[in-house]
Amino acid sequence: PELCGDVANPKDSRVRMERYKASNISAEALRKVLQRPSQRSTDTIMGIVQPIVKAVRERGDAALLEYTHKFEKATSLTSPVMRAPFPPDLMRLPQETIDAIDLSFENIRKFHDGQKEPKPLVIETMPGVVCSRFSRPIERVGLYIPGGTAVLPSTALMLGVPALVAGCQKIVLASPPRADGSITPEIVYVAHKIGAEGIVLAGGAQAVAALAYGTETVSKVDKILGPGNQFVTAAKMLVSNDTSAGVSIDMPAGPSEVLVIADSSAHPAFVASDLLSQAEHGVDSQVILITVGLCEVQLAAIEEELHNQASALPRLDIVRGSIAHSVTLIVEDIESAMELSNQYAPEHLILQVRDAQRVIAMVQNAGSVFLGPWTPESVGDYSAGVNHSLPTYGYAKQYSGVNLSSYVKHITSSNLTAEGLRNLSGAVMQLAKVEELEAHRRAVSIRLREMDRVLSKE
Ligand code: NAD
Repeated sequence: PELCGDVANPKDSRVRMERYKASNISAEALRKVLQRPSQRSTDTIMGIVQPIVKAVRERGDAALLEYTHKFEKATSLTSPVMRAPFPPDLMRLPQETIDAIDLSFENIRKFHDGQKEPKPLVIETMPGVVCSRFSRPIERVGLYIPGGTAVLPSTALMLGVPALVAGCQKIVLASPPRADGSITPEIVYVAHKIGAEGIVLAGGAQAVAALAYGTETVSKVDKILGPGNQFVTAAKMLVSNDTSAGVSIDMPAGPSEVLVIADSSAHPAFVASDLLSQAEHGVDSQVILITVGLCEVQLAAIEEELHNQASALPRLDIVRGSIAHSVTLIVEDIESAMELSNQYAPEHLILQVRDAQRVIAMVQNAGSVFLGPWTPESVGDYSAGVNHSLPTYGYAKQYSGVNLSSYVKHITSSNLTAEGLRNLSGAVMQLAKVEELEAHRRAVSIRLREMDRVLSKE
C-alpha cells in the first residue's frame, strides 16, 4: 500500500504507526492493513486444551491442582477453592482502593440495574391469543478473571455486579493464583461484595473445565463468562459444544483493541493517550487511528505525542509490540471514517470529533463508544458504569458486550381462549399437515370437536 507523506525510517526506535491514505489503496490492501494480528491456529490451541479439559473432567480436583502447580507454580496449594465468607485478612486494602472499587461498583450496579425489564412483555397477537415473555436469572454462573499477566479486579466487577443485579443464585469466580497460592486482595474484596460463593484458584483451560463439569470441590455452573487468553477461549468453546456439560458461554474473546476517530478539533495528546491505553494491554493488542481532514502538522503532532508518551510508559516493550501492527488511516470526511470503522467493528470506538453525538447515529458495529474529548476509554474500563467485557476481533458485528441480559434467560408463554384457538386452528392444522405431523394437527382438531360438542349442548 502507498504510504502517505514522509515517514521515519522503520528501523529507528521511535514508537510510530504506519500511515495510509485510505483513498489511495485498494480494498484488498485495506483489508490487509486492518487485519488483526494473527493468533495461533485453533487446531494448535485445541490440541493443547482438549487433554487438559478431559483430565479435569475425569480426575477432578487432582488434575486441577496438578495444572495449577504446573502453570502457576503454586505448588503449595492443596485445595483449589477458597470459600466464602472470605477472611478479612485476605481482602485488606488501602482505603483509596476500597473507595475506588466501591464507587465503580455503585456506578456499574446503577447502569445494569437500569437494564432490568420493567415488566413482562404481553402481546395479544390475535383475539384470544396472548403471548408473553418474562425473564429469570441463570441460576449458577462462573466468572473467569484473567490473571496471567495482570491483576484485574475491574473484570471481577464487570462480570460480578451484573450477576448480582440479575439475581443469579450462585456466583463462582475463577482466577489463576499467584505462585504462593494466594489471590490478589482486590479480587477477594470484589468477590465478597458481589456475594460470590467461592473463588476457584485456577486459570486457563483447567479452570474452565472445572466450572463446566464441576469437581469434588468446584460447583458446576450453567454459564461461563469472562475474557482470557487463547487457552481460556478455546476451552470455553470446547465445553459449550459438549452437550453433556450443559453449559453456555458469553462470547469468543480476543486481544483488546481500540479505534480512534479524530478530526481537527481533537487534542493530539488525548488521541495519543487513548491509543496507548489499549496498546499497553498486550503485544497482540491493536490500535487504529482514523484521522479526518488533518493537515500534516496536526498528524505530526499526534505522532510526536504518541512517541513521547509511550517512551515514558513502564510497559513500553508491550506498547512497541502492539504498535508494530497498528496503523493510521487518513480520510477526508467523517462518512468515510465511519465506513472503515463499521467494517473493522472495533471493541472500543473513540470519537474525538466535532458533534460526536451526531456521529453516533452512523455507528453500526462497535462494542462500546466513547464520545468527545472528556471521555477517555479508561472511564469505561473501570468506573463510568458501562461494561468493559466486550466483543473483540470483529465480533462486534454480531455480539453485544456483557450486559444484564447475559445473566438471564427469557421464557415465553402462550395463553389462548377457545375463541383464540378457533382463530388459529386453520393455520396450525394446515402447517402441521404440510410438515406431516399428524399428532400436532389432531391436538387442535380434538379441541375443536370438544368445543363443537359443548356448543351443540347449549
Ligand atoms: P489468563 O488468565 O487468560 O491465562 C492464564 C492461564 O493460561 C494460565 O493459568 C494457564 O493455565 C494458561 N496457559 C498459559 N500458557 C499455557 C500453555 N502453554 N498451555 C496451556 N495453558 C497455558 O491470563 P493472560 O494470559 O494474561 O490473558 C488475559 C487475556 O485477557 C489477554 O489477552 C487480555 O487482553 C484479555 N482481557 C480481555 C478483556 C476484555 O474485556 N476483552 C479484559 C481483560 C483481559
